[in-house]
Amino acid sequence: MSTSPASSLSLAVETADILSALGVAPERLRGGARAARSPITGEVLAQVHDETQAGATEVIAQAHAAFLQWRLVPAPKRGELVRLLGEELRANKAALGRLVSIEAGKIVSEGLGEVQEMIDICDFAVGLSRQLYGLTIATERAEHRMMETWHPLGVTGIISAFNFPVAVWAWNAAIALVCGNSVVWKPSEKTPLTALATDALLARALARFRREGGEAPEGLAGLLIGGRAVGEMLVDDVRVPLVSATGSTAMGRVVGACLASRFARAILELGGNNAAIVAPSADLDLTLRAVAFAAMGTAGQRCTSLRRLFVHADIYEQLVPRLKQAYASVAIGNPLQPGTLIGPLIDRGAYDAMQDALSAARDQSGRVFGGERVAVGGCEGAYYVRPALVEISSQAGPVERETFAPILYVMPYRDLDAAIALHNAVPQGLSSSIFTNDLREAELFVSSRGSDCGIANVNIGPSGAEIGGAFGGEKETGGGRESGSDSWKAYMRRTTNTVNYGRSLPLAQGVKFDI
Ligand code: NAD
Repeated sequence: MSTSPASSLSLAVETADILSALGVAPERLRGGARAARSPITGEVLAQVHDETQAGATEVIAQAHAAFLQWRLVPAPKRGELVRLLGEELRANKAALGRLVSIEAGKIVSEGLGEVQEMIDICDFAVGLSRQLYGLTIATERAEHRMMETWHPLGVTGIISAFNFPVAVWAWNAAIALVCGNSVVWKPSEKTPLTALATDALLARALARFRREGGEAPEGLAGLLIGGRAVGEMLVDDVRVPLVSATGSTAMGRVVGACLASRFARAILELGGNNAAIVAPSADLDLTLRAVAFAAMGTAGQRCTSLRRLFVHADIYEQLVPRLKQAYASVAIGNPLQPGTLIGPLIDRGAYDAMQDALSAARDQSGRVFGGERVAVGGCEGAYYVRPALVEISSQAGPVERETFAPILYVMPYRDLDAAIALHNAVPQGLSSSIFTNDLREAELFVSSRGSDCGIANVNIGPSGAEIGGAFGGEKETGGGRESGSDSWKAYMRRTTNTVNYGRSLPLAQGVKFDI
């Protein structure tokens, strides 16, 4: 455990330097009503301004006007803008990654990893800009051709959560922009500074794109700083045909209903309650490392964090004591310091929610190991905790909910079918894993009879997805998919075209209508 003091250099000063170097105007950082804080020390980093209703309306109007122009630019040229964005991110990876660590409390390698994820999705989107393809389909009529064409959709609203403050924007924006859409982003109110920095880097890419002859209209990418009320403006605006919203299930329940009521599209990326099954044949060294990272990493604040662990009774005593050892010795402290593995919770609310869940688990006879607040020198205004491992016999109460903190509920099992049934018996359906060297068990888990989640892994933990795959989950996780594979289709509208190149007019299904 690390209890060494925070860096003597004030985080506020360092943050101001980074933001200035990345091109954020100083007036955006002072005089506003919203305090941007670092969870590392709890200190205020800047006072940012919330967007007004009139301002938000104007940003959306501009984005709509920009869309009407941008959709006419050939997709590979749109890809060039995203390529330049990727270059800006590469050049500024260290600074932006550091800012992610300061504002979201991630350890240094995870802050940098988040920016790497942005770079990766830009690369993917550039290639995609030459691959926005439709099908040609056999028609029943002679001298006809049937095909589908994918067209730009409109303004894409992006609402993001605090725990991936910038990568989620990139997943959506890089794809939306090559698809011919404009974007308007409402970042988490807990992480406005990384959003301002990302917006400044995009502005640089846009300026270079225009200097090099590209036609990018003003207002192509808007940013709305603020809380829930500002997000609601985006969700309610009829000029926004698609909103990709990442956050809690409670948020998605409201946002999804609003979008449905005006027939707008939603990509919902909501809470998870991810589980893993450890079978008797599992490689326990590998399993231990995977479980430790997935359950404790990012202080349990990933949507894909491991929260439930089903361990076969025959190996329970070989694995769980080793896990407890890892929980007891993991390095907790200032995430900017080398060697730290567990940084802070985002705020007091997260700490309270964790303690509430642990006390509910105790009421259910759960045996709680860890979970207490940890003092870190120089960080007294922050909330550091020892990750909690809870041995519990039944999946009920807090085990069925997502508590956005490092709590791992461990339950023994005997029968794999019963374990899979329990695995699936929660409202959420994001990510899942099985650890086994038995081919039958592995294949069963990823089959239609196995995990009901959007992500089902074998011999790796549930967290840490790559951008090449479609990302998202089922049930209360919202059903959306974003990032790789064919997720781009959600950002475009499909038209089916039938072309008659003959001189007669045969009707489908043999219908006769001769006049
Ligand atoms: P949150 O729901 O509190 O906030 C997320 C965003 O939604 C914020 O920008 C917030 O201002 C906005 N918002 C809230 N209510 C709104 C409304 N009615 N209309 C419009 N906007 C609204 O979530 P959080 O605490 O920032 O993030 C943690 C949650 O996000 C966890 O549940 C986590 O699992 C989830 N998450 C999911 C994914 C995923 O891909 N499935 C990824 C990251 C985080």
